[in-house]
Amino acid sequence: MDYISTRGKIAPVGFIDAVLMGLADDGGLIVPSHLPQLSEATLRAWQQLSYPELALELFSLFVDGEIPREELKQLVDESYGTFRDDEVTPVRRVNNSLHILELFHGPTFAFKDIALQFLGNLYGYISKKRNSTIHILGATSGDTGASAIEGVRGKEGIRICILHPHGKVSKVQELQMTTVDDANVLNLAVDGNFDDCQRIIKELFADVSFKQQYHLRAINSINIARILAQTVYYFYAYFQLAKQGQGEKVNFSVPTGNFGDIFAGYLAKRMGLPIHKLILATNENNILEHFVTAGVYQPGEFRGTHSPSMDIQVASNFERYLYYLNGEDAGAISGLMDGFKRDGQIVVNGAVLEQVQADFAAYAVKNDECLSEISSCYNEYGYLLDPHTACGVAAAHRFTAEDEVTVALSTAHPAKFDEAIRLIDIKQTTPVEIQALSDKPQFQTRVVGTNEAVSEQLVRFF
Ligand SMILES: *Cc1c(COP(=O)(O)O)cnc(C)c1O
Repeated sequence: MDYISTRGKIAPVGFIDAVLMGLADDGGLIVPSHLPQLSEATLRAWQQLSYPELALELFSLFVDGEIPREELKQLVDESYGTFRDDEVTPVRRVNNSLHILELFHGPTFAFKDIALQFLGNLYGYISKKRNSTIHILGATSGDTGASAIEGVRGKEGIRICILHPHGKVSKVQELQMTTVDDANVLNLAVDGNFDDCQRIIKELFADVSFKQQYHLRAINSINIARILAQTVYYFYAYFQLAKQGQGEKVNFSVPTGNFGDIFAGYLAKRMGLPIHKLILATNENNILEHFVTAGVYQPGEFRGTHSPSMDIQVASNFERYLYYLNGEDAGAISGLMDGFKRDGQIVVNGAVLEQVQADFAAYAVKNDECLSEISSCYNEYGYLLDPHTACGVAAAHRFTAEDEVTVALSTAHPAKFDEAIRLIDIKQTTPVEIQALSDKPQFQTRVVGTNEAVSEQLVRFF
């Protein structure tokens, strides 16, 4: 399997080099040169697999022999052995038309662990195999940072620096990141918002000589390994329903920020998983919803909401979708992205917009509606949603027809976002792992939000 750039200006590379490259050297995003097509017979055979077995089959298609199967199996087993639930990502039935896919049973209680436990182990493997230094640089709106740090803390040959927007992540998220005292971890608290952090990272990575000199590697969802790891649970959840005879019209509703998670679902569908509708849910940062409904992608004013991990204006994975939307035409994407840089927007219409609307339904959830969704789901079904998941569930209600089932992806445990849950007077019990965080000392360095301030810290640390 070759990996290429959405902008077409890098030589094709294999899986490991694609993972190491992160952002493509031409500024585009890395995609597989072709998508494996899964037959009905394969899908039927895979129904019986456990989560790690299924992950191994899917990863094998994309790794394509670069990691011997036995070693890949070991990486997968180590990555999912840290999860608190035997099923890794269990599907819970709420009612006849709504199921919740719980993605939060990993070490940091958010879905990012599913990809980052694997990526952390993969980086450890690559570092050993190639005898190469791995310096991870990432930006987080809260969950990625904690999860990435958890994935590599204390690992030999790896150092990690994570930028988060100072004061704009939840208390639990901050504690999960900053209470880690391993010497290979640096937390930078940046004055600004998540988009500022992400822009700084993107610009530092775009400086290819800086990136090479300091061996910088990415863990943000621009890394193709993350997307591939996230396709697994779409298959897994679909199979759980299919086994109960409910595989006819299965929708997935996905709370969306950087377009990574839902893009993984889009890939699963293109590989042959018969997903009915992909429902894109945003919070009040509704750029992606606006794109689907009106054909205009235009980042605007940042809004703080109850679902901070989705408080994102510039969706870093969106370019991958544009690539497929434009018939895998890298030349067209180069032009579009140049235009975006110049005009600050991307506009589609006519048949292209029709295709977008065939690919996705979309709904933007207001703050009030998010909270009332949490209340009503709790009162009616005794199921407590976190505010991100609540956005997905609100969108699911909107688009699930009578004869359909929607699987709403639950991207975080509610205890991670107790600030919002308390607003509606629901008292939850905090898992002991989270309770224990508040007694620990914190380690972080506050910096102003400029490339210079950040690179100065990096040069000192790496
Ligand atoms: C990261 C995150 C999201 C958004 O996922 P994207 O891949 O950025 O779309 C949603 N919910 C939670 C809890 C997250 O941590």
